[in-house]
Amino acid sequence: MSKILSARKLFKTYRLGAARIEVLKGVDLAVEAGQFVAVVGASGSGKSTLLHLLGALDRPDSGQVFFEGRPVEGFSAARLNRFRNRSVGFVFQFYHLLDELTVLENTLVPAMAATGVVGWLRSRGAQTARARALLGRLGLGDRLRHKPYQLSGGERQRVAIARALMNAPPLLLADEPTGNLDSETGRGILEALEALNRDGQTIVMVTHDERIAGRAHRVVRLVDGVIAAT
Ligand code: ADP
Ligand code: MG
Repeated sequence: MSKILSARKLFKTYRLGAARIEVLKGVDLAVEAGQFVAVVGASGSGKSTLLHLLGALDRPDSGQVFFEGRPVEGFSAARLNRFRNRSVGFVFQFYHLLDELTVLENTLVPAMAATGVVGWLRSRGAQTARARALLGRLGLGDRLRHKPYQLSGGERQRVAIARALMNAPPLLLADEPTGNLDSETGRGILEALEALNRDGQTIVMVTHDERIAGRAHRVVRLVDGVIAAT
């Protein structure tokens, strides 16, 4: 297996006025291609902070994130945009779907962002076919024209997963993807993630729920700002 993602000695402190919150104090992590890794930790332990650093939504104070062996820190602005749009897909606890757009349109947003207007006009047919296939695979084939507010929580999260996968990112990052769902519905989301992983999708999921984490191949614990030895 090859290493797709690694983090070396990540430090992150938030400053609010005079207060300093030291969240990450030297996190080391390596993820192999094809793995399903769960990062567990108590609420407030820095899981979302870590995931944001891994997906380059935020920068560490010090330390480095490597994607396919290259330091993200060294990426140009254009390369960084491409990384965020094509290399990683994000799934959040509260879905973050656009309420004015249909299920199909929400799923297509990353493809539109990736191509620009001319490219989009050229590739729209193929992209729409891909979005439909993804949504069908996630059990939403008969919800394409629904708006997010017309869906259940579990359905919304499945749309968010389809959207995250639209540009076929090698890495899926999920932040408490079942955190807003009842346990039965959450199980359905986990099964969807497991099925994707069986087909080769690399997944890093953070959660405070040990039972959920138990479904992943590998569980690492974030305790006191570092990954606890296992
Ligand atoms: P988790 O996802 O594990 O619940 P977070 O990474 O969201 O934890 O937050 C870790 C700690 O950092 C918490 O104490 C939180 O209040 C604080 N924190 C998170 N984001 C910010 C921010 N933007 N500014 C200040 N403090 C923050
Ligand atoms: Mg969080």
